[in-house]
Amino acid sequence: MRKITKFQIELIELNSSTILGASYHTLLADDVQLIIGVYDVDWEQSDVYSEICICCGIPGCGGSEQLSLRRVSDNLIIFPCFEKYKNTFFSRSFTWSKAIANETIFLSKKQCIELRRMGLKILNPCKYPLPSKKELIRILQWDAPYNLLDKWPNPVSICSEKIYAVSEKTALSEWLEILKYCIINIENINLFCEYKKLEELEEIVFYIGEPYWDEWIPLVRYSNKIYISLMENTIGIRIKETKKK
Ligand SMILES: [Zn+2]
Repeated sequence: MRKITKFQIELIELNSSTILGASYHTLLADDVQLIIGVYDVDWEQSDVYSEICICCGIPGCGGSEQLSLRRVSDNLIIFPCFEKYKNTFFSRSFTWSKAIANETIFLSKKQCIELRRMGLKILNPCKYPLPSKKELIRILQWDAPYNLLDKWPNPVSICSEKIYAVSEKTALSEWLEILKYCIINIENINLFCEYKKLEELEEIVFYIGEPYWDEWIPLVRYSNKIYISLMENTIGIRIKETKKK
């Protein structure tokens, strides 16, 4: 999950066989297309279409996917509507919004206010639901580098052979077990999903590749407990880990 630093709305001309040269207000997140036809979005919904149809102007007609809007404390996160499409993904073609095609995104409350000033009827983030436990695990999967948790819509499973070390004194195998426990027992774990300052968190870094050329931070320690983290370096979105060690 990454923070967006800049939003813009631009009139972008799209080629269509029926409406040649028609232009659409497109919301760009760090210069990448997030929503086409952004003034037609029904922000009262917690799942919204990422594109209006360039032929008829109806959101979603023509095969764009829905984006999920969820809150974390008073911030907003945006990700593909995982549950809705997991069974039909291979039977139709999708045009994922480019801004979330590789990684989910995070908007601060301040940025949501900025979007309202730009004329979007986006709600206060607190009006959107919390992500479900299933969604949290899918976000972790979507954002994991090198398909470390396999590729959505496959079930989430850890490719532990790609992980070589952990930034902790205890063995890597123990930490992989904790992560596996969280994934397998997600429905039995208390949902805990809040924004915390980086200074309050201790990152548990997994080193990937040979010889350790990359890092992945799926877990953090907060008040001596372990949580799943969806966004390293800046926030922890965590699921309370109840297993006794
Ligand atoms: Zn259409």
